[in-house]
Amino acid sequence: MTDEARVMSRVALPEETQVERQLRPQRLDEYVGQRAAVESLRVSVEAARRRGEPLDHVLLSGPPGLGKTTLATIMANEMQANIITTAGPSLERGADLMGILTNLAEKDVLFIDEIHRLPRVVEELLYPAMEDFSVNFVMDKGLNARTIRIPLRPFTMVGATTRPGMLSSPLRERFGIFHHLDFYSGEDLTAIINRSASILGAPIAPGGAEAIARRARGTPRIANRLLRRVRDYAQVKADGTVTPEVAVRALDQEGVDEIGLDRLDRRFLTAIIENYKGGPVGLDAIAATINDEAETLAEVVEPFLLKIGYVVRSPTGRRATAAAYAGLVLLVAGHFSGKVPWLGRLPGDIHIQRGSWTFYFPLATCLIVSVVLTLLFSLFRR
Ligand code: ADP
Repeated sequence: MTDEARVMSRVALPEETQVERQLRPQRLDEYVGQRAAVESLRVSVEAARRRGEPLDHVLLSGPPGLGKTTLATIMANEMQANIITTAGPSLERGADLMGILTNLAEKDVLFIDEIHRLPRVVEELLYPAMEDFSVNFVMDKGLNARTIRIPLRPFTMVGATTRPGMLSSPLRERFGIFHHLDFYSGEDLTAIINRSASILGAPIAPGGAEAIARRARGTPRIANRLLRRVRDYAQVKADGTVTPEVAVRALDQEGVDEIGLDRLDRRFLTAIIENYKGGPVGLDAIAATINDEAETLAEVVEPFLLKIGYVVRSPTGRRATAAAYAGLVLLVAGHFSGKVPWLGRLPGDIHIQRGSWTFYFPLATCLIVSVVLTLLFSLFRR
């Protein structure tokens, strides 16, 4: 993985497990954003506590890094229960799940990440486990085969998925609570960064968190990672404080662009624009063009581009919007602005700074770059 791919990776990097645990909110009150889901879960937890019952089974969906594991941990804490964590692909055989289920204590939370990747045989074991708190175990084979019903202690199942559509309906129907987590607003990400900075003991000046939040792709995991990179940069190249200027310099150096798009996002967009004249084009065709898996694109790339309005989905396929063209031109202009002295500083380029608040839009540069690019494209297309 290149360094740029690592810095914007949506999945946790191997060395991040420890720090993610340290930064993970432990109670509902500490969990920033996702207000609808949090308020509804608060009611469910309180009701279950009053009845002295385990919480109903919960299904959480949403792109990676948005806080599904965190919410599962919080629910276990709020219910004063243990959490047992596993993932769909690691439960290969029925016996793997049986072992876990029979060892659960009352009200324990069983968290299954990537639940849409559960093998069929394991999934079928889950149905009675979730519904009646029992599992059916088949002993012997052929004529001697008999089924033994093993009772389980009442527990809460929390499933997380990036692809809710891939869950079979019998499994989906066994969850009583369903929440979809969406990308975070700049305001929420700023709050998360400020919280993490105080846990890590990183001094942060006004505007520093906002500057990082703008490039974090709406994702807390990326926000926390960028914060740690900026903190290192501030310690080595400045006086240790994360100011907006230091954040911008550090993230520019890391290759994180102003919109927070990574290389895969940009390849996805340029494939639609360059190879399919802006679309509409099917996901499989884009996947083949950029040599990636359609599933990865649907799970981790497309949701953010849809969210920021760079791509729209229609019955005939995906289309790049005018905002995507403008955004890419802005990125190209931004990329060259350090190398070509006049770029980004032409009369007509807007740059307003008021205290911690900055607005930068190189209007004239964008116009010139887009005219030049259009001319080049039409020349090469001939
Ligand atoms: P997912 O399971 O959806 O991939 P995680 O729950 O592992 O995501 O979240 C990744 C990191 O992001 C966590 O370590 C946590 O520090 C941070 N995080 C996620 N959601 C929030 C939130 N709402 N408030 C504060 N921090 C969060």
